[in-house]
Amino acid sequence: MSDAREGSNQSLSQQHIFTDIDEKWMKLALSAASRAAVEGEVPVGAVIVKHNSLIAQASNSPIEFSDPTAHAEIIAIRKAAEKMKNYRLPETTLYVTLEPCVMCIGAIIHARIERLVFGANDPKTGAVCSLYTIGSDSRLNHTLNINGGLLAEQCAQLLKDFFKQKRMSKKIAKKEIM
Ligand code: ZN
Repeated sequence: MSDAREGSNQSLSQQHIFTDIDEKWMKLALSAASRAAVEGEVPVGAVIVKHNSLIAQASNSPIEFSDPTAHAEIIAIRKAAEKMKNYRLPETTLYVTLEPCVMCIGAIIHARIERLVFGANDPKTGAVCSLYTIGSDSRLNHTLNINGGLLAEQCAQLLKDFFKQKRMSKKIAKKEIM
């Protein structure tokens, strides 16, 4: 996971495809991301929705759980599968504030999630459109509907503020040692 840039041009041109309902759920994902930042985790949040009902929400928590797989998407998928008592999550939409990484897009496909909506692009580890295009690889036997760029600026800003704060506290710590 890494510093996110502004939403891409592609994202901007897709803005019209989003509804108020999409925005409502992404805002909930954003609040989950903010909670991660408070805990000192990279601020990424995810929610899973079925027929406009909330199934699961999660914040990125690898440090808290000492678990490199504890990305927001993975935790949300685990919670949703438990709740739905199903290892597949048909007819669901996963909203996440940052473009998923290789691991998460893999899990999203395994879960048979119907639609993925993400906020900011992740040029460093994004596996949906930035670094790889796994979500739309036609060799896979699951078709995932993907819409990127929803509230991209807010999602990216949260990450930028987090890393800026981190750099600042590192500088302060250095000065204190000297
Ligand atoms: Zn991930």
